[in-house]
Amino acid sequence: MSGPVKKKNKTVHPEATYESLLRIFTVPESENSTLGKIEKQISENLDGFLKEHIVSHVIAPNELEKGFLDSQIPEEPTFVSEQADFLLKNVVAESVHVASPRFIGHMTSALPYFMLPLSKMMIALNQNLVKIETSKAFTPLERQVLGMLHRLIYNRNQPFYEENIQYSGSALGAFCSDGTIANLTSLWVAINRLFRPQQDFAGIGEEGLFAAMQHYGYQGAAILVSRRGHYSLKKAANLLGIGRRNLISIPTDTNNKIIVSELVETIQRCKKQRIAIIAVVGIAGTTETGSVDPLDELANICEAHDIHFHVDAAWGGPTLFSKKYKHLLKGIERADSVTFDAHKQLYVPMGAGMALFKDHKSLTLVAHYAEYIIRKGSRDLGRMTLEGSRPGMAMLVHSGLRIMGRKGYELLIDGGIEKARTFAAMIKNTEDFELISEPELNLLTYRFVPADVRRFMATCSKEELFNINAHLNRLTITIQKEQRDRGTSFVSRTALEPARFHGQLINVFRVVLANPLTQIPHLEEILIEQREIARRLLSGELAMDYSEQDEGEPRKAVTQTS
Ligand SMILES: *Cc1c(COP(=O)(O)O)cnc(C)c1O
Repeated sequence: MSGPVKKKNKTVHPEATYESLLRIFTVPESENSTLGKIEKQISENLDGFLKEHIVSHVIAPNELEKGFLDSQIPEEPTFVSEQADFLLKNVVAESVHVASPRFIGHMTSALPYFMLPLSKMMIALNQNLVKIETSKAFTPLERQVLGMLHRLIYNRNQPFYEENIQYSGSALGAFCSDGTIANLTSLWVAINRLFRPQQDFAGIGEEGLFAAMQHYGYQGAAILVSRRGHYSLKKAANLLGIGRRNLISIPTDTNNKIIVSELVETIQRCKKQRIAIIAVVGIAGTTETGSVDPLDELANICEAHDIHFHVDAAWGGPTLFSKKYKHLLKGIERADSVTFDAHKQLYVPMGAGMALFKDHKSLTLVAHYAEYIIRKGSRDLGRMTLEGSRPGMAMLVHSGLRIMGRKGYELLIDGGIEKARTFAAMIKNTEDFELISEPELNLLTYRFVPADVRRFMATCSKEELFNINAHLNRLTITIQKEQRDRGTSFVSRTALEPARFHGQLINVFRVVLANPLTQIPHLEEILIEQREIARRLLSGELAMDYSEQDEGEPRKAVTQTS
């Protein structure tokens, strides 16, 4: 049932009168309306709603786009029920079942049920955190959430938090919409600190990058991160005026961790060439492999060279909830700034990230004022955030933290890591799957290699190895796409350069085990399906996919997955 209601060949629209319009703002939907039924089903049986309405079938992107070609804003109003029907049929049906326990390819998982009614309450209130006049209690609430996560990371003493958690002259962090903005905010602070006001120079915020370089006598500027860095850092390098190619990517070791000696060499080279280092970024849970850089060592180096140390813990930050595994992040408490994503492992709906700062005065380096809206000395959070108007998402983070508590999150984190280890063991126990990266947190990568090919690879020449890998890459890509298109399970795909293949780029399946609903039998089924697809591809029953270009050369930097 899409398109306007037709009656005697004439389309019926709701009246376009002011009164009928007012009803839209006031009258709630009746329980028997389409929207009323949707609401009821979502609140009573979310799983059933998703299963019933999301269809899994293959549809080409350009087929899908055909339903969304009209650029005309409709002249006449449409009935709410008609729009709801349209959405169910064309949008909900064609969306992705990210809550499915078999959807283990991305960092987006199922949500605890209480997030739904609380989200609705948040939207009903429609607070704007840009300033206190439109948010009232939401502002101290957000500051409290930032304080809680600051304490999780930095664990300063009680008086520090009593003094600073609600102190309007500074902020322990910036709440924002995602990890990308959190990374950008952190580097924004870093560049403002490095090029701070001095003598007749009014600071980079006032005078810009060019004047800053001249004043401080630099020939260029760079940000240093391992080659597993997230691509949001590229965007930040672009926006800060540094340029993407000056996001210098440092090689990684066999465990996908930054090679510290290479980092030190790069720092020395930059110094010699008068290149300002805006920040060294350590990663606590890389997007592709879940690896954690040696944060303590990076902290030592940054301290010795007086460089801003940023830790991108968008994924791995919540590991700090786990008594058993938090040691993996040792050194994060020495970071000048930390990115933390709540919409990943805090199980909050999309749109919640945070940048936390060790020094509570850091954010004053980027504070902005505007007479009409944000005056000096105000309590408004909008002074110190990149974004202006923002929703009350902090309420959902607060709720997650209180309802599940540290112990609840610990169970989720430990469960994910242990599941990843079990899955790794399952893969190693087969003859025809090869584990490519061991799970340090709850991510791992692997690929399919027929048993006889695997035996041959153990003894063959380097050239033969190269050719076999090229074929295996094609196989991995095709299996991944076929499995995705079948629509019952999903693993993602990336490309790595495992040391044993001499720098050759290897396509791999990438698995993220964050959904608590995922069980071992789901993982078994995924391997069985992949093996079956492989068999059909190798027997010629199914054709290989050559549509995508070979990725060929190893990438210079940064991942594009999420
Ligand atoms: C997901 C992720 C980001 C980006 O976060 P978004 O919320 O997608 O903007 C940055 N860094 C790492 C390590 C991530 O995993």
